[in-house]
Amino acid sequence: MIKLPEAAQEYFPYTSVRPHQDQFIKTVYDAVKAQRSILIEGSNGLGKTISALSACLPIAVEKDLKILYVARTHRQHERVIEELRAVCKKHAVSGVSLRGRNQMCLNTFAAKSASDARSLMEVCELLKAKGRCAYHRAPEEQTYEYLQLQNQLTTRPYKASEIQRVCRKKRICSYELVKASLPDVAVIALSYLYVFDPVIRTAFFKNLDSQLQKTILIVDEAHNLPETAIDIASSSLSLFVLKQAELEAAKYENRDVAAFVNFFRKEIEKMTEKIRHEEIISPEALIEIIQKEGSISNPRDFFEHMHEVGSAVRRSLLAEGKNPRSYIHGVSEFLLRWLETLGDDSYINVASR
Ligand code: SF4
Repeated sequence: MIKLPEAAQEYFPYTSVRPHQDQFIKTVYDAVKAQRSILIEGSNGLGKTISALSACLPIAVEKDLKILYVARTHRQHERVIEELRAVCKKHAVSGVSLRGRNQMCLNTFAAKSASDARSLMEVCELLKAKGRCAYHRAPEEQTYEYLQLQNQLTTRPYKASEIQRVCRKKRICSYELVKASLPDVAVIALSYLYVFDPVIRTAFFKNLDSQLQKTILIVDEAHNLPETAIDIASSSLSLFVLKQAELEAAKYENRDVAAFVNFFRKEIEKMTEKIRHEEIISPEALIEIIQKEGSISNPRDFFEHMHEVGSAVRRSLLAEGKNPRSYIHGVSEFLLRWLETLGDDSYINVASR
């Protein structure tokens, strides 16, 4: 048996180690202590979660770093919290399992209106700005009880499901409560998106009031990363969505947007006519068509204009108490993101039928 590093032993909550668990802990501890990245494999039942935590916790405490434990499923996040509770028998440590806004949002109108995390973020912001979310607490509305709850999250480990249960009872937004407590929580168990989606990561680290360099990042089941990275970086646009955007622009009497979307949809139809399954297309050729034949000399400016039109549609739908979904907004988001990838060899553009 290998002697565990004394500091890791301090945080290891069990009386005995499983076969090879000592080696696992020492290897992780030595690497993290030396600020090296490490890729390590362990069989099922080895106790990888507690091994990684007890190796990293003493270093995080010593160097004032936060631990981000990234895993795929809610069950894995909750497992982290259960292990932290075991650690608490020896050392007080705080932790939360963080779920996305779409899983934490208690406002049924917002949750139903948004098709993905980004659109929920926008709907949420719109509702808050209009004072139409009963769960949101602006700083001046935060009672002593609210601040107590927020503070409580920084004292011991809590599962997202437990926080949600309490918040539902007290009619408080669980997502916002957790978000506010993040800067003072030692260990956060969360999904890959928070670290690997550039947009979500930027917002997350802003909430954390920290930087990636000030964290110890543990990636559970890292073999999922390539697939996750491809999913995160991929986006698609269908002819159906273009048709809906065209109808929406006509309904709101926005002639330039309606004319462009009609032209663009027809060009895509022409381009994909002969495609049997899928084919790589040239984004530069498409931009040239937009500029020359669509008479859009500056596509970025025009897509930003579409984005503003889409945002105005959403605001007006929300004011009418309707689902604030705008196809124009969706199309412009896609086109703006697509422009960002032009000339970047790590992306491919595919048309399929
Ligand atoms: S403030 Fe909270 S409950 Fe309200 S819409 Fe946003 S996420 Fe949902």
